[in-house]
Amino acid sequence: MSLLVVGSVALDSVETPFDKIDDALGGSATYISLAASYFSAPVNLIGVVGSDFPKDYIKMLEQRNIDLEGLQIIEGEKTFRWGGKYHHDLNVRDTLFTELNAFENFNPIIPESLKKARYVCLGNIGPDLQIKVLEQVSDPQLVVCDTMNLWINIMKQDLLKLLKKVNVFILNDSEAKLLTEEPNLIKAAKLIRKMGPEILIIKKGEHGALLFTGDTIFSAPAYPMEIIFDPTGAGDTFAGGFIGYLHKTRDLSPKNIKRAVIYGSTMASFCVEKFSTKGIEDLSHLQILERFREFIKISSFNESD
Ligand code: AMP
Repeated sequence: MSLLVVGSVALDSVETPFDKIDDALGGSATYISLAASYFSAPVNLIGVVGSDFPKDYIKMLEQRNIDLEGLQIIEGEKTFRWGGKYHHDLNVRDTLFTELNAFENFNPIIPESLKKARYVCLGNIGPDLQIKVLEQVSDPQLVVCDTMNLWINIMKQDLLKLLKKVNVFILNDSEAKLLTEEPNLIKAAKLIRKMGPEILIIKKGEHGALLFTGDTIFSAPAYPMEIIFDPTGAGDTFAGGFIGYLHKTRDLSPKNIKRAVIYGSTMASFCVEKFSTKGIEDLSHLQILERFREFIKISSFNESD
């Protein structure tokens, strides 16, 4: 049973108060696939790059058992590039540039063998492209979708059409408020769930995440970290850990969805420890398990405590 991941594959130029890097590996599909690869294998990545995309990056993704049959490499084109600069407060980020390049005419084509995929993760790209992907998948059991403020601002109608077809929608708190024009997150969550997704996750950056499923509201903590090197991709990595764990366990009960949220947070905590994708390229299962247990420790609470 395949896990299909679609989204951007990028070369990122990132500046934080600690360091600066050019043409580093990035993109929503990249972070999601890497995070998911610790739980399910193979992960099938659908995306596009130009012929300038470094072979070393391809090699690293393949070594993590990420299947690149659905990655289009467009001869003579350049890869999607994104530049961002973080402020002293790492929650604040300016986008310096977005060069679509190979993405401009991207038409996601799902290989025949993957059209029956049961688990689909629609990483951050235009909702028009996310819809095109879903139209090619015959009977998905779980569709997880991420987005960003840009699409809420410029493609809201497409996004609303897409939301009717997704099971899990992941977005951050400011995006939830933007989408609903409702400043209260609990009210915003109710409004978003009426748009389609039965499960909603609102990420709150370094303050954790809120999960809404059935009648349950679960407040997941963030891992207390003294050093955050590069927050880029943390949200995508969260989504990858989340869907990877659900794909591995095939259990969509509220209890297991809570666990998946904590695995998502666990993977995101590794992501921000290093620049670009470095923090999630070479983890051991023991490291992941130990940090998952740390999450349990910091959030467990009894009346008698
Ligand atoms: P995040 O930090 O979770 O917002 O994700 C950052 C990643 O999103 C970077 O690696 C970028 O390459 C990618 N990205 C930035 N803007 C876009 C966009 N408009 N469409 C798709 N991916 C993007």
